[in-house]
Amino acid sequence: MAEKIAKAGLGTPLPLTEEMIKEHVDNGEDWSSASVFVLGGIRKGKDGKPRFVIRRVSHVDGDLGAELRKHIGDYKGFRFKFFRSTRNAFDRECEIYHAFKPRKNKAPPNKPKNTKFTCPVPDCTFEGW
Ligand SMILES: [Zn+2]
Repeated sequence: MAEKIAKAGLGTPLPLTEEMIKEHVDNGEDWSSASVFVLGGIRKGKDGKPRFVIRRVSHVDGDLGAELRKHIGDYKGFRFKFFRSTRNAFDRECEIYHAFKPRKNKAPPNKPKNTKFTCPVPDCTFEGW
């Protein structure tokens, strides 16, 4: 499981609050319009250390801060990463979806608007689009 957490490849878990969003997202040094974020909670692992539990994964084309603010109060924490392109963000979103099967994701990630992207995960059988 620890291996899977490393593979999410997103930033450090942060509390999902207005202050954190403003400081780390809105004013983030590498701000980009392409991003991936996960929402979840903190649980104590077997080793006694807190660990982040991913409950939802999504990507944003545009304003990540605005999207995150919609979820304040619903989740304890978030992790995120900016990407250079929508393609890179979508690929990572799919990888996280398949690796973690977040409980709150009812369906596989939607391809970004105006693209023909398909899931990069080799054993993906989803043909919903
Ligand atoms: Zn897939």
